[in-house]
Amino acid sequence: MLCERNKVVMNQEQLIDQCANKDTCGFFLKILIVLAVILITAVTCGKIVRAETPSLKISILFNNVSYKENLKTSWGFSCLIEGMDQTILFDTGGDGNILLSNMRQMGIDPGVVEVVVLSHIHADHIGGLESFLEKDPNVVVCLPESFPATFKQAVRNRGAKVEEIHEPKYLFEGVYTTGEMGDWIKEQSLVLTTSKGLVIITGCAHPGVVNIVRKARGHFKADVYMVMGGFHLLSMSDSEIQKIIHMLKELGVQKVAPSHCTGDLARTMFRKTWGNDFIESGIGAVIELSRQVGKSTLLDKN
Ligand SMILES: [Zn+2]
Ligand SMILES: [Zn+2]
Repeated sequence: MLCERNKVVMNQEQLIDQCANKDTCGFFLKILIVLAVILITAVTCGKIVRAETPSLKISILFNNVSYKENLKTSWGFSCLIEGMDQTILFDTGGDGNILLSNMRQMGIDPGVVEVVVLSHIHADHIGGLESFLEKDPNVVVCLPESFPATFKQAVRNRGAKVEEIHEPKYLFEGVYTTGEMGDWIKEQSLVLTTSKGLVIITGCAHPGVVNIVRKARGHFKADVYMVMGGFHLLSMSDSEIQKIIHMLKELGVQKVAPSHCTGDLARTMFRKTWGNDFIESGIGAVIELSRQVGKSTLLDKN
């Protein structure tokens, strides 16, 4: 393919040279030929727009919601985020063996992870960390500052670095945390910036999914494209869930991918409300989005 492409380019360049020697070939004809070369080159390479918009890929590695039959479901949540400047493991599920087995089945090498973000202290989100660090200790673990000192030391003893999070914070290009939220159970959510708006990833959403979306939207002053993860609506009634749906719609949430502790009733109601903008996100689901480079630099880094 590369050879064919080069041949096309060479032939076009030769044509430009030939034309340049003749009075009949004007400037505009040369421009047209150059544009044709660019178009042919792009088509033959299959990279017309994507060269400018790298893909953001979110793979669900641990979930109690089923999706891919060959993967094991278990109570908890974890996902891998690829396509930002660094590869992130968000939460680690409740069991390291299941996490690593699902990663293997999905063809994901634990060694690709550079940053681990832990949403909150519950075992169904941190349970897989120890087994994961045995495979890949060369990571930075971003965890809520309120985690016990013994936990932080255990992470350091495994060879990983610890970054304590309290306030909303810029982690690296396009990736932010809401900071610790909630009174009783402190939890952070992850915020990714894309050309379509914010992508907010929650662990259990103990501080309330509406509060999390409101904080992210207010702090980053951007529209919310997608909210995904556990929404913690398991014990809520039909009318309570309807209120949450109404508020998320009012906040302009375009797409939702609820799973984990959201509950079947809430997931059914979300699916009905969002229709084609409801994204199935059980175990093994892969969500791909385009991410325009440079857009996120519009946001402040504090
Ligand atoms: Zn929890
Ligand atoms: Zn949970």
